[in-house]
Amino acid sequence: AQVAQAEFVKSSVRTEDCPSDGLPEFALVGRSNVGKSSLLNSLVRRKKLALTSKTPADFCVSIIPLMTAIFEADDSASICVLGKTQCINHFRINDSWYLVDLPGYGYAAAPRELRTDWDKFTKDYFLNRSTLVSVFLLIDASIPAKPIDLEYASWLGQNQIPMTLVFTKCDKRKKKKNGGKRPEENLNDFQELIQGFFQTAPPWIMTSSVTNQGRDEILLHMAQLRNY
Ligand code: GDP
Repeated sequence: AQVAQAEFVKSSVRTEDCPSDGLPEFALVGRSNVGKSSLLNSLVRRKKLALTSKTPADFCVSIIPLMTAIFEADDSASICVLGKTQCINHFRINDSWYLVDLPGYGYAAAPRELRTDWDKFTKDYFLNRSTLVSVFLLIDASIPAKPIDLEYASWLGQNQIPMTLVFTKCDKRKKKKNGGKRPEENLNDFQELIQGFFQTAPPWIMTSSVTNQGRDEILLHMAQLRNY
């Protein structure tokens, strides 16, 4: 389960605009700053497949014409970066499945209408994208559970959207200011808090984009889900 080839295919603002070739796909979603871009880059071993940045900049529609890059397996290939993603970005892996980058939620500085829009279109995608195999919900394990993450997990559970929990930043050590808990403790707390939302507890994986912990496990899990 290795990534030999990763190719940016398209940015879509609506579910109907997503690729229609029927390949299976996995969507990465999480709160802004959870480490989604870092994880995506670590999965495909690129420094900049997705841009790591602090603020949602442009709407993808304005940068689509710029995004024509095809990446080869070696890191020297030129890579076209995406603006902080406000749309559904499809990356085709090994010509056989997609990694899908969804906009981060809970970006505090975003205007309310914009937040509602994100919500509407990601939820529409979850409910209607028939080739979606599983949503990978990213949760920052270096801090205590956030209400917005619990809300998101609850929504996915209630709507029976297949989900895998990906705990990020597991390399971080505990700090006094985050309640003094270790990532392992935070992730246990999170799982307890969401128990009621699911008939069976979702699979979960500990990751770090710093140490690459969990990278192979995620790819293997995706391979297993594809063959299921
Ligand atoms: P995104 O907004 O979800 O795409 O998050 P980014 O990938 O841009 O990461 C947000 C911040 O968290 C950056 O400062 C990253 O360097 C940091 N970060 C991301 N992943 C990790 C990780 O696994 N471990 C640590 N220690 N920091 C991380």
